[in-house]
Amino acid sequence: MASFSEIIGMDSIIDILKSSILSQKISHAYIFDGQAGMGKTMLAKALAKTLQCEEGETEACGLCISCRTFESGNHPDVFYVTTDKKSIGVDDIRDQVIKPMETRPYRYRYKIFIIGSADTMTAAAQNALLKTIEEPAAYGLFLLLSENYNAFLPTFLSRCAVFRMKPLPEEDIANYLTGKGIKEEQVRFYSGFSQGNIGKALRLASSQAFTEMRETVVSLAQALRRLDMPEIFARFHILEAYKEDIQELLDLFMLWYRDVIVMKETDNTRFLIQWDKKNEIYAEAQATDLSSLYRKFDAIWQAKRNLKQNGNFQLTLEMMLLSLGSG
Ligand SMILES: [Zn+2]
Repeated sequence: MASFSEIIGMDSIIDILKSSILSQKISHAYIFDGQAGMGKTMLAKALAKTLQCEEGETEACGLCISCRTFESGNHPDVFYVTTDKKSIGVDDIRDQVIKPMETRPYRYRYKIFIIGSADTMTAAAQNALLKTIEEPAAYGLFLLLSENYNAFLPTFLSRCAVFRMKPLPEEDIANYLTGKGIKEEQVRFYSGFSQGNIGKALRLASSQAFTEMRETVVSLAQALRRLDMPEIFARFHILEAYKEDIQELLDLFMLWYRDVIVMKETDNTRFLIQWDKKNEIYAEAQATDLSSLYRKFDAIWQAKRNLKQNGNFQLTLEMMLLSLGSG
């Protein structure tokens, strides 16, 4: 359910929005900018629902007809702008925003347009929308969600109220996951690994696929040091199966070697709070010398960088596997 009280870690943004509602100084266009999973959609929905609510002032009541139709996804005066193309073009803006804006709201105070991936709008689309934002009908409200604030034209940005979402403190995410009944050991792992992204933490914590990915990384890392070269190359197909999530998988590899290094350097398992793999880490630390562990860690980092720069997928990962396997 979309409501301000359900959103964590955005108190300052929500306070600003609520005081704009109270002082009737709502902007006609908002940009909520941040990584996927940071809660942009949730925030836009909570704002839209609150503004259309027939009872509540700064918090949607959840009970009125407006709130109920909003939750069902059929609110007559809230529109979700979408496209099946890679970017939002001027036609999409014309058909889904400018035309509907010509008529007054069906029943409620505003006509609200929630535009996902708004940073993919072409320059022509931004200019078309800009005209509407510059001379808005009193009922027009635009909530734009973006992952790359730099993609907007300066003239466009200057007409919008921009809120940029920051990563949450690890502790906030940990508390939230604990509240969801997730075990302490896992809470520490996921809150650390998600790097302040609450959506990512929740997705990973509830994902069987991610648990399997962790198992894959641990068993592959352990196996590699015992294999000869042809066998190492043969393991490429395991990584290939994770092609879509390869950066996440490599992050896990780095986390694994980091902890083995910590184990080796400190001889202390106290720091290894985020893995339920203390025995495996201990065995790996015993078997490998420190300089070679650092070299392996570096090889993963290089592979991550190569892939980000569109390096050859197979070649990059085979070279990495070779580095992880030797010594
Ligand atoms: Zn309501």
